[in-house]
Amino acid sequence: MALANLPPAPVSDVECEMIQVVPDACRKVADYLRRHPIPEDVEDQMLPSVSPELAGNYLFLLVAICHQTTPQGNPPPPPLVGTVAGVSRKGWDYLSAKLQEVVTTSQELLTPSTWATVTGPDLTAIFRDATNGERLSDPEGRAGLVRDMGEKMTAARWTCLHDMQNAVGSRVAELLPALAQFHAYRDPVQKKSLFLLSLMRNSKLWDFPDPESLGPPVDYHEVRGHLRLGTVQVVSDVLEGKLRSQTEVTPEEDLAIRRAVFSAIMRIAEELKVTPSQMHYLFWNIFRTCCKREETHCAACPAGCGLVQRYRPLTVHSVGPASCPFSPVCSSAGQHLKYVEHYHRTDYY
Ligand code: SF4
Repeated sequence: MALANLPPAPVSDVECEMIQVVPDACRKVADYLRRHPIPEDVEDQMLPSVSPELAGNYLFLLVAICHQTTPQGNPPPPPLVGTVAGVSRKGWDYLSAKLQEVVTTSQELLTPSTWATVTGPDLTAIFRDATNGERLSDPEGRAGLVRDMGEKMTAARWTCLHDMQNAVGSRVAELLPALAQFHAYRDPVQKKSLFLLSLMRNSKLWDFPDPESLGPPVDYHEVRGHLRLGTVQVVSDVLEGKLRSQTEVTPEEDLAIRRAVFSAIMRIAEELKVTPSQMHYLFWNIFRTCCKREETHCAACPAGCGLVQRYRPLTVHSVGPASCPFSPVCSSAGQHLKYVEHYHRTDYY
């Protein structure tokens, strides 16, 4: 599959002086992954029981406010956690399940006219958990993103994402610029936009004539994992120091890091002749379960390893117990000191 030259891929000389892709390491990871078929990218979550148009709006709203749900800091603020339908959840899992529960009975929350008037206290109330209380950080900022969507959708006379698609076209290359007009989706590395389009396709709400243009929505789990794998290498001593001390990086450094990881994922996808989205889902699922900030499965996956079933065959190695799929090729495997994703306060991701 020939991959498109996607917008976030070009990396400037200045960014190359901060962090670079390591082609040999990418090739090594790709060669190792060839042992198993790469699972298709599918979504494990269900959509709310609403019309396809409102289901699209549910994803549009959900992704717009999905950033930094497990915040960093010293000390880190408490993560977003809670219980939905008797199941304890964290971060994205709680955000999506809770919103799904609420909109099933309050469908007006999925309309641009409601978004245009949403307030911080509204969002706080929606995501309040009976046991853990109010954990959603920056509700005012998130509400501002939602109001911006409501106002712009209303001005364009679009009642749903499908109206936007009818106006601008069905190609990824047409939809990405249209999404960038919304403040929530303005990230130059397009994390939320690419994530939304992945969800729309994997939930079977949309299909794209140019799937090769759907790049990976790089999130912090993938940044952490690729820094540890060695598929990207920090060049700048200043940036290295910030990563090691967890000092906040600049917006330029944040973009450089995420663009490098984006390019590494694209390169590995191209080596394996799979879509960037397939690679994203593989990396995201593995890093968020086997390669957490404080807990790594380099030597063995514990009994309660939460890796979803379709990626489990990758944890089986020729010798030794089941462990992180990357343990034979990872430059950090078994190392005491491991990178953690960079610290940067943003609503891009
Ligand atoms: S081998 Fe260890 S450090 Fe490397 S990706 Fe796996 S869990 Fe993370």
